[in-house]
Amino acid sequence: PIILGIESTCDETAAAVVEGKELRSNVVASSMEEHARYGGVIPEIASRAHAQAFVPVVSKALADANMTIDDVDAIAVSAGPGLAGCLAVGVSGAKALAWSANKPIYGINHVIGHVAVTQLQFGDLPANTMALIVSGGHTSLLHVNDIARDVQVVGTTLDDAAGECFDKVARLLGFPYPGGPHIDRHAQLGDPHALKVPQGLTQGKAGKAHPYDFSFSGVKTAIARWVENRQAQGLDVPVDDVCASLADSVAQVLAKKSMMGCHEYDSTTMIVGGGFSANSQLRAALREAGEKHGVDVRIPDIKLCTDNGAMVAMLGSNLVEAGVQPSAMDFPIDSAMPLTKISC
Ligand code: ATP
Ligand code: MG
Ligand code: FE
Repeated sequence: PIILGIESTCDETAAAVVEGKELRSNVVASSMEEHARYGGVIPEIASRAHAQAFVPVVSKALADANMTIDDVDAIAVSAGPGLAGCLAVGVSGAKALAWSANKPIYGINHVIGHVAVTQLQFGDLPANTMALIVSGGHTSLLHVNDIARDVQVVGTTLDDAAGECFDKVARLLGFPYPGGPHIDRHAQLGDPHALKVPQGLTQGKAGKAHPYDFSFSGVKTAIARWVENRQAQGLDVPVDDVCASLADSVAQVLAKKSMMGCHEYDSTTMIVGGGFSANSQLRAALREAGEKHGVDVRIPDIKLCTDNGAMVAMLGSNLVEAGVQPSAMDFPIDSAMPLTKISC
């Protein structure tokens, strides 16, 4: 099937055309520059940017694919999770387009789109796959039996997402927002064992957390204390070592729990996605762990890891091929869409 995918959960307005498992076009506009000076995404500004970018981005995606809306079999759009005002723009635009062109529409789960998109680079998803989705807003370990029908949550973060933790430490170190990529760069120059930092909830909090859950606020606090202590003593802060220690701690716990999950579910495929999977320490840790445990770790190119329309279109293509019914025209946006809900 030919699917037009539309994405507007956060700061990217994006659209793409996928035919079966082939990418025909992929257009992304971001309002990140407008948010940078506030140190975080401002929902009102992001919504406004979606309203401006929607038509140009969707038109370009169709034009780049050498298609018109008539060539498309269905439209897919992220219905959640994400910022409500942002979702409302993309979903309203997609519904208007579907209504006027008389096309079926699928309101899909953005996070599951991060799993689906890997098929564009690596081919079909085997049954019984594990997936680690890490970004500024999400840290989730999933078990994917069938991308169109059966996804279960194995673990999730109890506090900060991995990217959020990096961004908070980056702010403390004086890097501009988003600080994750700066930490990555400095971490490559430092000693990962210079600071003793806790590994985010390695054991699971007694009686409360699941062994597959994550917690990164303790890592952030430990680093903040250590840095403040140095400053109070008038000592310089070894930025590269701080970054390397943080990156190592986060990468190791993510890789470790991912492999524990593969073992528990007897899975030999590990999908990785979300904006934080750009992190080089995580990519290296997962690749190394995969080799050691005989797991095929599939980390796509960075442009497919970050938010885009291709992920939405690819999941739409899976849903059409699986014979899943399109969404009713009155489907809602859901800023806290559960990860077990693949489409509306
Ligand atoms: P969403 O959370 O809305 O699904 P997404 O999947 O696009 O969004 P973002 O939240 O945009 O992900 O991901 C960017 C996050 O990843 C930010 O927190 C950013 O600092 C972090 N990040 C990006 N590149 C790197 C990197 N190389 N190293 C560490 N962190 C990074
Ligand atoms: Mg983003
Ligand atoms: Fe995302």
